[in-house]
Amino acid sequence: MKRFLVSLLCISSLLSVYAKESPPNILFIMSDDHAAHAISAYGSKLNKTPNIDRIAKDGALFKNCFVVNSICTPSRAAILTGKYSHKNGVPVFNRFDGSQWNVAKELQKAGYHTGMIGKWHLGSDPTGFDYWTVLPGQGKYHDPVFIEMGETKKFKGGYATDLIGDFSLQFLENRPKDKPFYLMCHHKAPHRPWEPDAKHQHMYDDVDFPEPATFNDDYSGRGSAAKEAEMRIDRDLTPNDLKQEPPPGLTPAQLKHWKYERYMHDYLACIASVDDNVGRVLDYLEKHDLAKNTIVIYTSDQGFYLGDHNWFDKRFMYEESLRMPFVIRYPGHIKPKSTNDKMILNVDFAPTFLEYAGLKTPPEVQGHSIVPLLEGKTPKDWRKSMYYRYYHYPADHKVQPHWGVRTDRYKLIYFNKIKEWELYDLQADPHELKSVYEDPKYAKIRAELTQEIERLRKELDDRDQFADIQK
Ligand code: CA
Repeated sequence: MKRFLVSLLCISSLLSVYAKESPPNILFIMSDDHAAHAISAYGSKLNKTPNIDRIAKDGALFKNCFVVNSICTPSRAAILTGKYSHKNGVPVFNRFDGSQWNVAKELQKAGYHTGMIGKWHLGSDPTGFDYWTVLPGQGKYHDPVFIEMGETKKFKGGYATDLIGDFSLQFLENRPKDKPFYLMCHHKAPHRPWEPDAKHQHMYDDVDFPEPATFNDDYSGRGSAAKEAEMRIDRDLTPNDLKQEPPPGLTPAQLKHWKYERYMHDYLACIASVDDNVGRVLDYLEKHDLAKNTIVIYTSDQGFYLGDHNWFDKRFMYEESLRMPFVIRYPGHIKPKSTNDKMILNVDFAPTFLEYAGLKTPPEVQGHSIVPLLEGKTPKDWRKSMYYRYYHYPADHKVQPHWGVRTDRYKLIYFNKIKEWELYDLQADPHELKSVYEDPKYAKIRAELTQEIERLRKELDDRDQFADIQK
């Protein structure tokens, strides 16, 4: 009996380990369109991000964090709800129904002081937040307008990234000190049209960025969707994107390179501002003795093409836009300088925050808490495949709707409107240049993955709820 009681006590003390300690603060920093390969902790060949790297150095870096629908608004809805687009009602740029469950509401109910600052882009007003100030729609980089708790305010002379940093510091300063906080700090940058501030505008003037390995992909190794897409570096960047006139007399290849350089100079300068502002909030946490009990995350709403496959933008299930950067620190709980290659998804964020806060995740949430992974105890049944689905067509870039599955080695994609399949062997072809769907050598894996898609669609209850949505 005594032994039974002792073990019962052990189990209950283990179960309540997060509930017993004072609940951690959660600082969730997310930027817009920041590819992992433009972060030095991820091995960027282009830029340095010392402050984002600080989070990785003090905690964990996930190499395989994936978005379930690679576009701004749907990713935000998936993060808030822990659910795929077909369940949260936001497959494209449609209005988020703010009356539905979200993670901020749950944390607020449990006593968290909750805040949402920056880019929201969900059509409806934020719900579940004690304080919010958001950019209307995409917002502007310079002289932005913010909507603070329903009231429109203009910031002439201001720069969105710095203002989002300022407002985040004010939120931390003015918060009730007897409550844990949950802050979603959402930067607008580095979204198109990539407008840097004066401080960073010329920082890359003398730099010639290397072209990515797939810069001259002619799409001959795959189906028709890539050819149809309108997001090419050499053809589809507008004067508004480029902001300068090209020098005269360039060959087509030189002009393409010039456009790529213009794009990278501005995109990476916008990221430098984001990184500075990540540093400002990290410094604040340290100075105010908050670093130890605050979980800090840096991520982006999806990945992005940095000239890869001759593209800018995102949407496709190919690696560069599927992968999200995800670094997280929680001193004393997450091993510093650790890396993890398990597959995690943006729908996992909400359940993770809830577990750290000692709260239960409702059963209808589709993501899974990554806390066991962060403790170095990968569950035996952790996902070995992930399901993806993209809907937005034809606007803005004519990327055909598709769904697919990715495992650690393979990726099967089905473009459902044009009924085309692509299969990639990521080990043999990490740049995804040649679909092996028709290759008889891959017949067995093709059949297995086709089945796996069906299994995942069933598990996630994707019954084509939004199959015909057009935007
Ligand atoms: Ca985005």
